[in-house]
Amino acid sequence: MHAPRSGELAEVLLVGAGGIGAPAALTLVEAGVRSFVVVDDDTVERSNLHRQILYGEADVGRPKLEAFRDAVLRRAPDARVELVATRLVPETAAELVTRARVVIDAVDNFASRFLAADACWLAGRAAGARGVPVVHAAAVRWVATVISSSPGGRPCYRCLFEDLPGGDAPDCATAGVVGPVCGVAGALAAELALRILGRAPGEPYGQVYSYDGRSDRLRRVALRARKDCALCGDEGRIERIDEALYLGPSCAEGA
Ligand SMILES: [Zn+2]
Repeated sequence: MHAPRSGELAEVLLVGAGGIGAPAALTLVEAGVRSFVVVDDDTVERSNLHRQILYGEADVGRPKLEAFRDAVLRRAPDARVELVATRLVPETAAELVTRARVVIDAVDNFASRFLAADACWLAGRAAGARGVPVVHAAAVRWVATVISSSPGGRPCYRCLFEDLPGGDAPDCATAGVVGPVCGVAGALAAELALRILGRAPGEPYGQVYSYDGRSDRLRRVALRARKDCALCGDEGRIERIDEALYLGPSCAEGA
């Protein structure tokens, strides 16, 4: 029995089990997290093993979800892992994000990242409900960026990145990403998730972490709320998940 029982919240919903999701999961499992929901629809590729450090040579060609489950259970046989073989899509995002106490967005594209942000924030609009805390983790070339948003409060992800970028944003295939930088993003995301779960000390919300592997600098700045934010602002205009909001570059932040 390795899936969370019906109605029971998992500790972590991990969206994306790739270059950021793999090191994040490794950190979480070693820190004692034992229940996951994992969303991914990809297979393990040999060329990505250097950064998808949860997987090995024997996993090449397998669905990442299966390799993820096996890797977690090897380390923690008592863990519960629910597998969701899909990308995060508008039709199911609102329901999916409510299955765990914290969401880690480790996706490789802007559309899914904004969708995760909106779904987690909007979850708090239902009567008596609370938004879902979310940690966004991205890596492009030498730079890792990790942001945590409080459940349904301010500031939110859209306070910093207002909307999907235009078509000239760097793309995974051309921008590339450095393996250890993915590891930094994953470990930082795990650290913030552990704070949100009450398993690690420190402020969990409202910070932007940026690590530059060339200068070896980690910067932290406060995420500032914008009054005119489309999601959490005084006159926020995003009131529900609408697929038209997530049409943009299909691949923009490498993982
Ligand atoms: Zn906002």
